[in-house]
Amino acid sequence: RMINKTIEIYEGLEAETGQPVGWHKCGQLRIANSRDRLDEYKSYMSVAEVQGMRAQLLTPDEARKLWPLLDNKEMLGALYHPDDGHIAPADVTHAMAKGARDLGAKVYLNTEVTGFKRTAGGEWLVHTNKGDITCEHVICATGNYARQTGELLGLDIPAIPILHQYWITEAVPEVVERKRAGRPEMPILRDEGFEGYLREEGDGLMFGPYERTEHLKLFAEDGVPAWFGADLLEEDFEAVSWNWEQALRLVPALGRVGIKANVRGPFQMTADELPLMGPAWGLPNVWLAEGVPGGILWGGTIGYYLSERVVEGGNSLDTSDLDPRRFGDYANKEWTRAKVREAWGTHAEQKYPGQDMPAARPQKTAPSYDRLTELGAVWGVLNGWEMPNWFARGGVEAKDQYSWRWTPKGNLVGEEVLAVRNAVGLVEMTPMTKFEVSGPNAARWLDRIIANRLPAVGKVTLAHHLTANGGVQAEYMVARLGEDLFYLI
Ligand SMILES: Cc1cc2nc3c(=O)[nH]c(=O)nc-3n(C[C@H](O)[C@H](O)[C@H](O)COP(=O)(O)OP(=O)(O)OC[C@H]3O[C@@H](n4cnc5c(N)ncnc54)[C@H](O)[C@@H]3O)c2cc1C
Repeated sequence: RMINKTIEIYEGLEAETGQPVGWHKCGQLRIANSRDRLDEYKSYMSVAEVQGMRAQLLTPDEARKLWPLLDNKEMLGALYHPDDGHIAPADVTHAMAKGARDLGAKVYLNTEVTGFKRTAGGEWLVHTNKGDITCEHVICATGNYARQTGELLGLDIPAIPILHQYWITEAVPEVVERKRAGRPEMPILRDEGFEGYLREEGDGLMFGPYERTEHLKLFAEDGVPAWFGADLLEEDFEAVSWNWEQALRLVPALGRVGIKANVRGPFQMTADELPLMGPAWGLPNVWLAEGVPGGILWGGTIGYYLSERVVEGGNSLDTSDLDPRRFGDYANKEWTRAKVREAWGTHAEQKYPGQDMPAARPQKTAPSYDRLTELGAVWGVLNGWEMPNWFARGGVEAKDQYSWRWTPKGNLVGEEVLAVRNAVGLVEMTPMTKFEVSGPNAARWLDRIIANRLPAVGKVTLAHHLTANGGVQAEYMVARLGEDLFYLI
């Protein structure tokens, strides 16, 4: 739904600003070669319907009709998004800038921010190489420079750029023929068989393979070097030779033409491949639109929802998954490096609901860790802490079982839940954040911010903490330890 907002904004840009943006609404086709991937797409379809997204599950024959150059005999089905497309990145940037100027914004080109200072009146004084600018709000959207910008503000931004590349081929006769015959542009193709994307570009094809962890290179870990402007870097074929081999096998037309260009450069990456969008921690009125992996994809929607948040004080849809504060102090540079490599390096791998990825673990363990491991704990992660997800017993291996379907661990989890409900159980809550609320007005204050009735002394209740405009801020277990003493988990 968030990406739909980007599409909606980009589609209207040309009419709004008079600037052409090269929007091609060619759709997107994702191929499933395994039962798990097809399960993922089926699960996606149910969500898409609820969220009002147009998507279709296709049979292999239907998919081949949309992408006749694909010779994939392993295909089980495909997911088709008719509303997806591609756009010219530089044009869209210029159109956005023009649209902003037309509405009264000022754009200062070639002006470097060198520092920030909070004024006595609570505003921000932004120092630049061309003088100071006073702001009520500061939004940082500095791409590959995020860590440097963070340093100016005293923030350790959990993002590091990775290096990615794509190739553009010379004219492909089949593409030329399609155009001549007035056939529609083929959708952007993503196939786990070659772990990458493929689409028409002019009369040729564009192929962008996803770099796997072992071949992935990071960029500017210690800050973007002074020589780097908007430069492109040297081709690195070795990093993705496997993807190329598979692509040539599955799309033979790709191998019958020469290469016209290689485009290789850095873009930001975070541990979960999601942007850092929202308030900067500990700095009033400083907002982040940093760590954006896919700034074209995310650009429109981040602009929209971040401004909504700044102006309205909240979002009309839940954007907490993007909140920059979702990572804690544990997300230092070393941790970020390992997680970023894992995130992009497994981008094309099958992922499952509830799956916690293994890199940089264990980061934080509670004193009970060894004892619970002996008891069969299968570990997940919460807030950087290892957290027992469930306990393996009765000969079941202490290893998580990931699937889109029911797995036998569900029976064990069910027994644990019933034991706690009907008898008694111990739950390791170390990873959860806790607050103690106490004092003469504690009950009155809590009653105002949470939606449920407060529990009686000695009881607990589950309650939602609301935002000022009635949205959900957080969910707490509220334990009332005394008339004016509450413990929130
Ligand atoms: C090969 C390749 C393929 C890609 N494919 C896609 C794709 O298919 N889809 C997609 O969505 N994205 C793709 N991307 C990524 C996309 O290009 C980037 O995510 C996007 O350009 C980032 O936009 P941004 O606005 O966050 O950062 P940028 O465009 O880098 O803008 C940040 C700006 O902040 C400025 N800045 C930094 N520090 C300061 C300072 N101190 N003072 C003043 N200004 C400052 C910089 O000069 C720069 O102008 C690709 C990238 C590459 C390299």
